[in-house]
Formats: sequence, structure tokens, C-alpha cells
Amino acid sequence: MESGHRLVQIISETLSESVDFTDALALTVRKVCEMTGWGFGEVWVPNSDESGLSLRYCSLCGADRMDECRLHEPNKGLTLLLPGTGLPGRVWALKRVEWVRDVSVDGDVFLRAPAALEAGLRSCVGMPVVSDGRVLAVMVFFMPNAGALGESYVNMLTDVSDQVGAMLGRRLAEVRRREVMRRYEELVNNISVGVYRSLPSPDNKLVEANRAVVDIFEAGSRGEMLAHSLMELCRDTARCMELEAELMSQGHVKGAELDFVTLKGKPLRISITAVKKEDSDGNVYFDGIMEDVSEKRLLEEQFRHAQKLEAVGRLAGGMAHDFNNILTAVIGYANLVKMKCGGNETVSSFARHILTLSDSATALTQGLLAFSRKRPLSLQPVDMNDLVGNAGKMLARLIGEDIEVRINRAEGELMVMADNAQMEQVLMNLATNARDAMPKGGRLTITTSAVDIDREFVSSHGYGTHGAFAQIVFEDTGTGMDKDTCEHIFEPFFTTKEVGKGTGLGLAMVYGTIKQHDGYINVYSEPGSGTTFRIYLPLVAAAKLSTAAMDEPDESCRGTETILLAEDQPDVREITRRLLEEFGYIVIEAANGEEALARFREKSEAIDLLMLDMKMPKKGGSETYEEIKNIRGDTKVIFMSGYSEEIMHSKDKDKKVFDFISKPVSPVKMLRKVREVLDR
Ligand code: ADP
Ligand code: MG
Repeated sequence: MESGHRLVQIISETLSESVDFTDALALTVRKVCEMTGWGFGEVWVPNSDESGLSLRYCSLCGADRMDECRLHEPNKGLTLLLPGTGLPGRVWALKRVEWVRDVSVDGDVFLRAPAALEAGLRSCVGMPVVSDGRVLAVMVFFMPNAGALGESYVNMLTDVSDQVGAMLGRRLAEVRRREVMRRYEELVNNISVGVYRSLPSPDNKLVEANRAVVDIFEAGSRGEMLAHSLMELCRDTARCMELEAELMSQGHVKGAELDFVTLKGKPLRISITAVKKEDSDGNVYFDGIMEDVSEKRLLEEQFRHAQKLEAVGRLAGGMAHDFNNILTAVIGYANLVKMKCGGNETVSSFARHILTLSDSATALTQGLLAFSRKRPLSLQPVDMNDLVGNAGKMLARLIGEDIEVRINRAEGELMVMADNAQMEQVLMNLATNARDAMPKGGRLTITTSAVDIDREFVSSHGYGTHGAFAQIVFEDTGTGMDKDTCEHIFEPFFTTKEVGKGTGLGLAMVYGTIKQHDGYINVYSEPGSGTTFRIYLPLVAAAKLSTAAMDEPDESCRGTETILLAEDQPDVREITRRLLEEFGYIVIEAANGEEALARFREKSEAIDLLMLDMKMPKKGGSETYEEIKNIRGDTKVIFMSGYSEEIMHSKDKDKKVFDFISKPVSPVKMLRKVREVLDR
């Protein structure tokens, strides 16, 4: 008994040093052998599915070389035993210590008798290691004979095996518990949503937070995160309290969105789903998950905004297009009246009035067309540095003396494909607004640079395509705007200025023009701290073109050539014909593409130039031209359109740049274009 007690003590000391379960059993077996002087011992462990016992350790040959052991080697198959078979199987099934005093007599139950006898071992004892009624393992010890050791060992071993079982059971449970903990911890920390536990007011403490929470709030560590509370990081305390009240009364909240700020001060929008819990002492706490939805919301907002502007643009564009045709005719007739008034000063002044008013009307429709991206573009390589530099002087004059204009230009060239005049207008519109925002003076800074739009830019702005862009930053020190105003400034007719002062078309034009140039524009402003517009235009590798200055109208516009004019709008056709005839040309009219084709067939040799409207019933301009080209390949053509994309599309087809006139066109511009094409 006494030695049994010692044995248990030694074993328990040994166990506290061992690392794993099999290790612990192997140590136990060695200690028992040492104490008793028995030959050797084995450890058998049930398989996880309890289908049999596997030999895990043999004190004679260690754990790794059992196949070479002289006891096991001839019986390889016996390293696995079925329940009830052999001594280990029997001990497993009966869950008690079993002796085999003489293996030669009990040979039927002890399958390895011949091998044991050969090794000089006549007796053996099997001992289960039981915990919670389950056999964790079976230890088997072999000895030359049992006689001398006596029955007392049975009791001692029973005692030892009980204690070892209890110890190992505890140990195993602890190992399993830790393993489960580790797995859950890993799971919780690996998922990308934030998982947290917090206490209700007034504590408001964050008591648990996974990796994602730490990352979302840009904390350096979990410890740093837990030093803060969600309430303290929320930018809307009232809403936060409201949610807490809801959690307390309803027991849960789902997908509630709140504005937070990270530990580094970055604003965030977070969606929270949480439940109220109570521990056995009645303490309430909240368990929840959180997701950073800032980017998602930003993209949605951008998308909604773009969609709204798109819809308004379609409406405005359609109206402006029709209005343009009417205006073209009005301008044409007024010009004719002016020419034909035969020196009647009154009539002439009426005509001039009509023309002045028409100019305003044209500006208005141009504004709408620009916003709806329907203004024809004459794209050419433009150095934004040049453009900003040249515009600078003009802007300084425009905005007055008490506003300082500073221009910081990037080194080198910033070539973009742009419509020079329209870009100038963009700068003018922005400068005019800046002036209006600085009634008491201030500073306007225009900075150009080359930037790369990369993945980071796209994700933080919610738009953009990767590549190199020219950036023009327009910064004023004016009144600034609140968030609500910022959201609407690009809409046509949105103005905060008094009647007669603002049209609300300035930024709408800017927006449409920049979009039409495949660029981006954004605004940043806060009341009282000025406004910053940023424009991005795709950079191109191209050489500069010299921009021909627009000269004054003169008699060089005259000609005697024959022009085939196809235009479906009778008013526009009429006025165009009259103008051309006025300047000496012979005009053949057609009301649509098919008619134009027929007229051309009749007189193909006489026709020097085609003027084709892009959009006509029956046959459009480009289609008509294709067919005419088949009749006479070298026929010259000018396309006319109020819509830029019609021209763009036809241009894309064979990559050839066509001449076009955009409606409404001033008579001088049209006549010059006609001459230019005819003289080529
Ligand atoms: P308008 O100048 O005719 O009012 P815009 O489209 O040019 O129309 O501008 C729309 C509105 O945007 C302005 O009425 C003003 O409220 C605001 N805004 C534009 N630029 C600025 C600026 N630089 N500073 C402050 N507010 C501005
Ligand atoms: Mg304006």
C-alpha cells in the first residue's frame, strides 16, 4: 500500500512535467517498471472511433521502433487489437486490472504467449486508465513470473490506475479546453467583421474586441482599443444613447449605422448588430458585430449623385438640342435682316437687339449642352500648364484687385486632349465663383501637377480609372459651403445667389465639360474655410499644336461652288441655304439622307461639297456620306450637328477626323469652315 502511495506521488510529479497524453502514459509505464522491477510495459490506446486498441508505447523499444522490437516484430499485425481480444482488449472491455499469471496456461486469452515465453516473460498484468467511466488507455506490464510479487500488487495497481486516470482525465480536459479556446480565438480573430463585447452606461467599457475591431479603429493593439469606449468614439452621442436604449428595451439592434472616428481621427461609418446579454449575477452586457461600411456608403452616394446628374442632363440636353435648332434659325434671319435692311437704322437696331438676345440664349443653351455633355468638342493636345498660365492673367483681370491670384505650375508639360476654349471657360467659371465667394478679397491659388490615380485613390474617392492624370487644384479663401450646398452645386440652375446674379449653370457646365473630357472633378469645402476644387484630366503623350486665332469675318468667306445641303429641319435648312447663297454659293437642298443621295446621283460632277446633318430621318449623315463615297470617293464633306457624340461615333468608325459644324453656328464660323474645306 505504502509503495502504491509513493508510486502515485512519483507519477503525479512526473505527469506535471510531461507535454502530452502519450508522453505522460509512457512516463508512467517507465516509473512503474522502475519501482516494481518488472520486465517491461506497454501502452495501448483506444482509437478515436473506439473500434480497436493501438499500441502506442513499449518501454523496451520506445515509441518509434516498435516494429523492430523483438516482442512485437514477429507479430506485426498485433499492434491493433479489437475490443475483448487479448489481455489489453479484455482490460479495455472490463475496465479493471487483470492478471495473467502464466501465459503458457492462459494462452487462449493471451495471444502473444509464444513471443512472451520466448522472451522469458511468463506473467503479465493489464491495468486500465479510466476517467469519467471511459478507458483512456490500457497499460500492460510483463514480468518473468508473478508469484513473488503477490496479490497485494493488484490492489496497489488498482489504486494507481484510478489516480492516474483521474489525473490524466483532468489533463486531457484541460488540453481539450485550451484547444477549443485556441480554435475559437483564431476563428474570431480571422474574420473580417469586428466582434466585440461592451458594457452599458455608465461604464460604457469595451471589454472584448477582436483583431478586426482593432483594425477598424486604427488602434495599435487590443489593449489600446480596450482603453476606449464605443460611446466615446461615436460622433453622434445622442444616436448612440438611443441605440443603447433600444438594446436595453428590445434586446437587440440590427444593422444600425453610426458615424465614428478612429483613434487616429479618421471618420468612419459603421454598421452594428448587437444583442443584450445577462450573466448569472444579473450583470448586463452587449455582444455585437461591426462592419466598416464607409466605403460602401461613399460609393453608393457617388453613384446616386452621378445618376441624378445623368438624368437631369438627359432632360436638359434634349431640350437644349431642340431649342438650338430654333435659335439657329432666329440668328440666321436676324443676320439677314441686318444685311438687307438697306440702311434703315431702326430695322438694323431691332436686328442687333435680336442678335444680342440670341447671344444670351445661345450662352444658356450652351451651358445646358455642356452640362449634358452634348456640346461638340474640338479636341487637340493642350498643355494644361500653358492653359492655366495664359488664363491666369485674364482671371486676375476678371476677379479684381483685392483678390490675389497665385499660380503654381508643375515642372514640364501636362498634355491632355482638350477643347481649349471649353477648358478656358471651366477656369473662368471657377474663378467667377471664387470671386463671388470672396467679396472682401482673399486669395485664389491654382496649382497644376501630374498625379497617378491608383487603387487607393479609387477606393477613397469612389471613382476613377487607374492611370496618369493632370491635376488642377483651384483653391479659394472665400466663404466656403456647407455639406448640403456641396451636394447640389453641380446641378443646373442650383444657385445660392440672388436673382439676376447667378444662373446656377456655371458649375453644371464645368461638370459636364470635365466629364466629357473623361476627367473627374470634386469639391471640398467647409463654411468659413474656403473651397477647393480638384480637376483630373487624363494625360496623353502628344505634341502641342499651335492654336489658330479666330479672326474677324470678311469677304474672304465668299465662293461660287455648288453645295449639297441635307438638313431635315426646314428652318435650319432654309437659313443655311440663304446664308450660303448670300455669299455666292449655289445650294442644292435635300430634306433627308435619301433625298441627298438622289440629288447627288443627278449632278454628282457639279457638286463640290456636301453639308450633311448627322441626325436625319430615313438616312443619317454618316450613312449618306458612306454611300456617296462609293459613287465618288473624293467628295468633300462637312457634318453638322448639335450633338457631339454623333460626330464622335462616326469618327470612331474609321479613325478619320471629319470636319463638322456644331449648331447653332455663327454664320461667319460656318462660312469660314466651308471655305477651309473647299480650299484644301
Ligand atoms: P452660380 O454661380 O450662378 O450661382 P454655379 O453653378 O457657378 O452657379 O455655382 C452654384 C453654387 O455653388 C453657387 O451659387 C454657390 O453657392 C456655390 N459655389 C460655387 N463655387 C463656390 C465657391 N468657390 N465658394 C463658395 N461657394 C461656391
Ligand atoms: Mg457661377
